[in-house]
Amino acid sequence: MTEADKTKRKPIEATKTCRRLMADHFRELDEAARSGAPKIAWCTSVGPAELLRAMGFLVYFPENHGAMLGSTRMAADLIPAANAIGYSPDICSYLTSDIGSYLRGETPLKTAYGMDLPRPDVLVYNTNQCRDVQDWFAWYAREFQAPLVGIHTQRGVGPVMKSHVEDQAAQIRALIPTLEEVSGRKFDLDRLKETVAESLAVTRLWRAVLECGAARPSPLTFFDACILMGPAVVARGTREATVYYEQLLAELREKIGNREAAVEGERFRLYWEGMPVWGRLRALSDLFLGLKSGVVASTYCNSWIFDALDPDQPFEGMARAYIELFIVRNDDFKEDYIARMHDLYKLDGIIYHDAKTCPNNTNSRYGMPQRLEERLGLPSLTINGDLNDLRCYSEEQSVTNIEAFVEQLADDRV
Ligand code: SF4
Repeated sequence: MTEADKTKRKPIEATKTCRRLMADHFRELDEAARSGAPKIAWCTSVGPAELLRAMGFLVYFPENHGAMLGSTRMAADLIPAANAIGYSPDICSYLTSDIGSYLRGETPLKTAYGMDLPRPDVLVYNTNQCRDVQDWFAWYAREFQAPLVGIHTQRGVGPVMKSHVEDQAAQIRALIPTLEEVSGRKFDLDRLKETVAESLAVTRLWRAVLECGAARPSPLTFFDACILMGPAVVARGTREATVYYEQLLAELREKIGNREAAVEGERFRLYWEGMPVWGRLRALSDLFLGLKSGVVASTYCNSWIFDALDPDQPFEGMARAYIELFIVRNDDFKEDYIARMHDLYKLDGIIYHDAKTCPNNTNSRYGMPQRLEERLGLPSLTINGDLNDLRCYSEEQSVTNIEAFVEQLADDRV
């Protein structure tokens, strides 16, 4: 792709607000870590952040730090430090790069925000996404001598039943005594309802933002959304995040009105299934741009849509929202879900990312691409790689395969 091609794209203005919000998020955490107030809770990315926020904690998300280690391409150098203390190179590379970062005292937070990791007062996980998060947080709990509490979620769930929701809601309620003890604050149900209402507002806006990708041409791509989603992860439940997503949505709708394409001359519309390759986000974005192919939707970015949040029944709503997630569900649900994505986004093909160290977010290993090809008539391509460990990713092979895949789409259209 020529430099001229690259510059055709108009930037998304709201990205500036996104960056400011992320900077504010880390500045607040740094101040709290230095002064000891408010208390800091570490939380998994789809953990009970609303409860933590409502109880006065600032919330830090190690997975977000993992993604920063990936996108700054620091991860591969840091992973061996975690391997050396017994954490296998085959387990989650967010975990290994994050623990390696701590052991080596090297973090992108230093360069970006002049801060170190904010020390946790409590660590709270939800195994809805994987078991790795529990082991990851357990390591830090031992290191910092901080309390560790969590929610254990069923996996491979088909229809979400009342019994699932009741069990999860009870587990979320059971966190409260520890959180009260650490925060020194009594639980306030009204405050939780307010926080859940704000989180619901963010999640609805985030859904609307992603659904702008259904426009033809699409005003955004998966690669944009991976950046724009930051506040939906780290700041859901806050007013600032709501205002940011209102701004973003208005801008994207204006772009749709002006037929302003994220990929000039959009020829093909693709779905990304699986984790991003964080260290190659930009390169892949440029590759698809050059191929005039828009990656217009993804499972990954949709994972922060929590439709079931309910301010009137905050525990049950959180329980349902966090168990309805794609990653928690069985293959029948997942295949129906991708079929619905095809209906909405009118796709030409699916790219599966087989991430070496994240089997939980990899859906290409048990015949799903073949079943969906047969059911939807949609061609697919699986690329081998990883979210953070670039030693598992061959740039040359991936580029060749993606180019050949798009060429095949073009041939099939003739
Ligand atoms: S879902 Fe995958 S990437 Fe996320 S924490 Fe678990 S193993 Fe790591």
